[in-house]
Amino acid sequence: MPDTSRTELSSLGEFGLIDRITAAVELVNPSSVQGIGDDAAVIDPASGAGGQSLVQVVTTDMLVEGVHFDLSYVPLKHLGYKAMIVNFSDVYAMNAVPKQVTVAIAISNRFSLEAVDELYAGMLAACQAYGVDLVGGDTTSSTSGLVLSITAIGTAKKEDIVYRHGAKEGDLLVVSGDLGGAFMGLQVLEREKTVFKQDPNVQPDLVGFDYILERQLKPEARKDVIAMFTEMKLKPTAMIDISDGLASDVLHIARRSELGVKIYEDKLPMDPVTISTAHDFNLDPTTCALNGGEDYELLFTIAQSDYDKVKGSPHFTVVGHMTDAASGYQLVDRQGGQHELKAQGWDALLKK
Ligand code: ADP
Ligand code: MG
Repeated sequence: MPDTSRTELSSLGEFGLIDRITAAVELVNPSSVQGIGDDAAVIDPASGAGGQSLVQVVTTDMLVEGVHFDLSYVPLKHLGYKAMIVNFSDVYAMNAVPKQVTVAIAISNRFSLEAVDELYAGMLAACQAYGVDLVGGDTTSSTSGLVLSITAIGTAKKEDIVYRHGAKEGDLLVVSGDLGGAFMGLQVLEREKTVFKQDPNVQPDLVGFDYILERQLKPEARKDVIAMFTEMKLKPTAMIDISDGLASDVLHIARRSELGVKIYEDKLPMDPVTISTAHDFNLDPTTCALNGGEDYELLFTIAQSDYDKVKGSPHFTVVGHMTDAASGYQLVDRQGGQHELKAQGWDALLKK
């Protein structure tokens, strides 16, 4: 996109920028008593809760340019959207519903006002889609690049909260949606970036990759799954969202629950485009599903007596079960061979 107009952030200053952000924000939740504009936001979790007593959950995620995202192929609007989704997903993973967010940004003068507008347009689109209010934040300058720190606040009935540590031996391990798509989308984007660097006249070849590109660039959080749990009267015994990859995230449930786990290669849910693209890249689809990350699906355990509730659902796949701690962490391959399951997912501190 050609940069037709560029307004320097310095021409507005911090308060001018905050005013502009404030003007774009509309609060929808009765629990958001005071949003942007005072020293702190005011939240009344009981407001609009119909007399129910609720607890709050709080989660923060920080995204650093060059570490978590690459603006050469991630549009700022998508970055804003995804940054919100990542946080909402963490709230849903507690079986809670996100209601408020705060956003802290550090931004260099490389970015124009138009760029910040795009970023906030993406963030506010996600807020609107998920019914979440932007109630505050902080704005500062950075000497290089962009840093985004988002805090999401959600509510749930105390007895509905699902932790990583609640799984029991024999519980079924269930995953929503499909796996590995976001990782394969990233591979396609990285490949096209390399091609473009070699010859800027070559147009990116992204045809046929829509599904996995969307999984990478515009992921969604499983708000619908949390609603289904209420409808089905299903309370998982443990839950986590899949951000680092199934292998890594299932180990969190196993370790926190002091159990072993067994998952089956032939049960891993994958989209056909993910599988064919993995083959194109000479990657093993199973490895992509296990270690890819950024799927933002929910991984949860249920009592065997609840199996009928998920059986036959297009949204859920039983991929294994919890075992005793002594049995360890096992992956059973298509031939029935057993392998130790290891976390090789994305780790911000280990990457290069
Ligand atoms: P303080 O000096 O008390 O921290 P600020 O001037 O930083 O106040 O912020 C004023 C108001 O604007 C506060 O309500 C704050 O939460 C909000 N705010 C500041 N920066 C942002 C931002 N980037 N996004 C959303 N709200 C913001
Ligand atoms: Mg401040």
